[in-house]
Amino acid sequence: MSLIVMKFGGTSMAGIERIRGVAARVKREAEAGNQVAVVVSAMAGETDRLVGFCKEASPLADPAEYDVVVASGEQVTSGLLAIVLQSMGVKARSWLGWQLPVHTSGSHSKARIHDVGTDALRAALAAGEVAVIPGFQGLTDDGRVTTLGRGGSDTSAVAVAAALKADRCDIYTDVEGVFTTDPRIVPRARKLSKITYEEMLELASVGAKVLQTRSVELAMKEKVRVQVLSSFSDEPGTLVVDEDEVVEQELIAGVAYDRNEAKVTLISVPDRPGVVATIFGPLADANINVDMIVQNIAADGRTTDVTFTVPRTELARAKAVLEANLGAIGYERLDINDEVAKISVVGVGMRSHAGVAATMFRSLAERGINILAITTSEIKVSVLIAEEYLELAVRVLHTAYGLDAAA
Ligand code: ASP
Ligand code: MG
Repeated sequence: MSLIVMKFGGTSMAGIERIRGVAARVKREAEAGNQVAVVVSAMAGETDRLVGFCKEASPLADPAEYDVVVASGEQVTSGLLAIVLQSMGVKARSWLGWQLPVHTSGSHSKARIHDVGTDALRAALAAGEVAVIPGFQGLTDDGRVTTLGRGGSDTSAVAVAAALKADRCDIYTDVEGVFTTDPRIVPRARKLSKITYEEMLELASVGAKVLQTRSVELAMKEKVRVQVLSSFSDEPGTLVVDEDEVVEQELIAGVAYDRNEAKVTLISVPDRPGVVATIFGPLADANINVDMIVQNIAADGRTTDVTFTVPRTELARAKAVLEANLGAIGYERLDINDEVAKISVVGVGMRSHAGVAATMFRSLAERGINILAITTSEIKVSVLIAEEYLELAVRVLHTAYGLDAAA
């Protein structure tokens, strides 16, 4: 007998028919003799709708009340799944965030889980009941409802699995697993049978939106065996595991892209100690995440150009912050370009192999694609290019690293 956590995303929970499909999968696992805790998302589109109501009610909605509103989508689906399971003869009970409880920090709309209470949950599981838990929600020390940030029910599932020391955490979604790249761009993308936590983390943070980044961090820290698989097929999915479990390591696990990038260049910044702090300090204070940074040498010995990227959704705010700080920074001109995209290749194999970046640069050069900025980490190389070349670049790189499925 195993203890398993099953998590179902919004597409899997969208409407009673689909919830019946979910219930059938849950029933199968329970009848196989497993103890089962199920974590659910709100119905697809529901959280967006609830966020919309808050914005319409007031653009400055109190974050604590925003959480009360947006957490409700998961309450609905957890109750519905429990009802459907019961109607199929499966003992089931819902456990809301405050009932477990799921203790979180007080940062409303992006709270972090501190711990998950398991006493009531363990008793229910031991009594042969399926526990249905709404993802995404928790509560503060003083008992207010919180939510974990968009996509947060993945993190709820991993946190529940870690707290219960579950044997498996199966995350059911609308894709069949983790692919070498987006199959909509590269039809010959392959599903990976295994991927390491670190690669998954890099892929999640550079735009491959299969799992919430934080859920992967937590799984890595707590060594939770996560499997990503489809609610709509019976194919095996992708296992997210420790590096030593991946026997035949490929050089590159995947190619990811992110269109939410904008490039900012400050021209003729006085080249003196402390000047970059006058640029990035105020951006950090405004909670704007800077990603890639390139600083040129001061060719004339006095001034330099500084280029960096910010999320496109933050560009207007970034521009306002930089303009407000013109006096302190002292640049001559501010150029912005939001028709850019970032492409990243990720793989733990790069630690032991030279030439991964060179292959990337050469392959892009052969197609005449210009690179605007570069960043690297131990297992990732990212380049910024013009957005119009994005799809071409993804295809070229996927082929260059030998990732295409056999025809
Ligand atoms: N319903 C929430 C969202 O859409 C949480 C989740 O589905 O993971 O962000
Ligand atoms: Mg999701």
